[in-house]
Amino acid sequence: MRRILVVGGGPSGLQLALGLLAEDYDVTLVSPHGPQDVRDGGVLSTQCLFGPALRRLRRHGLFPWDDRAPAIGGVSVRVADARGGSEPTLSFAGRLAEPARSVDQRLALPAWMDLFTRAGGRHLRRSADADDLERLAADHELVVVAAGRGGLSGLFPLRTERSPFTAPQRSLMLAYVRGADPHPGGALLSRTAVPGAGEVFTLPVYSLDGVCDAVLVEAVAGGPLERHLPEGAGAGEVLAGVLDAVRAHAPWEYERLAGARLADPRAALRGGYTPAVREPVAHLSDGTPVLGMADTVVANDPVTAQGANMASLCADVYRRAIVDQGPGPFDESFMRAAFAAYWRHARHVTAWSRVMLTGPRHVWQLYRLAQRHQGTADRFADSFADPSGLIDWFLHPERATAYMEDVRRAAPARTSDVPIS
Ligand SMILES: Cc1cc2nc3c(=O)[nH]c(=O)nc-3n(C[C@H](O)[C@H](O)[C@H](O)COP(=O)(O)OP(=O)(O)OC[C@H]3O[C@@H](n4cnc5c(N)ncnc54)[C@H](O)[C@@H]3O)c2cc1C
Repeated sequence: MRRILVVGGGPSGLQLALGLLAEDYDVTLVSPHGPQDVRDGGVLSTQCLFGPALRRLRRHGLFPWDDRAPAIGGVSVRVADARGGSEPTLSFAGRLAEPARSVDQRLALPAWMDLFTRAGGRHLRRSADADDLERLAADHELVVVAAGRGGLSGLFPLRTERSPFTAPQRSLMLAYVRGADPHPGGALLSRTAVPGAGEVFTLPVYSLDGVCDAVLVEAVAGGPLERHLPEGAGAGEVLAGVLDAVRAHAPWEYERLAGARLADPRAALRGGYTPAVREPVAHLSDGTPVLGMADTVVANDPVTAQGANMASLCADVYRRAIVDQGPGPFDESFMRAAFAAYWRHARHVTAWSRVMLTGPRHVWQLYRLAQRHQGTADRFADSFADPSGLIDWFLHPERATAYMEDVRRAAPARTSDVPIS
């Protein structure tokens, strides 16, 4: 049995560890947290998963929440009046071909950890440093680092040409709330863009105590959406900051959130991080190569709601690469090839995230088109499920212009006022 070490018990590490166990590998997972720690901990993400990621999870028996997590039928986009008007200047909703769903990672990760240990996986409860990796690597044929954006990701050199940002592009405040009125368009991933200032997202989430709403404020630093919370601010203060920003800049969302209260005492998060693409292989001090996965080596801002989807894709791509390698060596060239297969998809998300963070003029023009052309609205919504087609019409100004001209020539104007549920 080939011995694989997976460092990090987030969605990427756990999905890879479980996938390899099912293929009869001997898998050790290193993670400081056990299932109960994660359940008792703070909110981690909004983790909206789209069709392909959900299908992958179901295929492996890892998504038992279809009957409880609301089916998110579309993506709504509203653009706020930068001067603070009470109505959006623009509004459309695109339909998703397959519903998306969000299950609190505080439920999903413990469930997957339990499955892992029940299926015979070994869980080492610790936070690994580079010396640990070196010691553990001696007993394993392959080390995969799935430790997210912090600590160990620094072992993997930055690819500066793929990492244009040198600071966090958004300051994040997230709260899960109860007591909100339903979105008038049904269960949607709702996105309000505040030009030059950031975004407000809402979506329904299946969380610890049932269904609630996640409200995420993504504020440009120093801009009007940002709220300066004290160091060590508690969940209640984060919620107050979220509601204050939403009331001032997305009043149509605030209307339904006015009675909102925290879904549980740890249902809030704040922070921010610099998007980064790193080398896929790090060398430990004795020269041993280790393979980085998901956020450890490709971290995008949550503005496109893709990181957990990509974590699942990366787990699938790496599992296949490992299995296809048969008895062959897990050397540096294997690692680079595995990452290259992942990057073929991940690069679209990185390019899209950059466009959404910087908001070039053509994006606002595409939104205006989507408001009166349902096909464009639907195409935008489905890009969350598969961003690879965005290169043909969304990412570059020239292609966007050509697309808009094609639509104007070919399609009759239609408004997108059909509710999606
Ligand atoms: C506010 C917010 C909203 C988001 N919304 C969405 C969304 O709607 N849709 C979406 O697809 N994505 C979303 N994301 C992104 C998504 O949550 C992440 O991209 C995803 O969780 C990354 O998975 P991962 O396994 O690579 O890393 P992580 O989830 O960060 O997991 C890493 C794990 O490694 C462990 N670890 C860290 N260091 C060590 C160490 N030294 N030794 C051992 N273990 C270690 C950590 O404890 C953690 O359990 C959002 C993120 C944020 C912050």
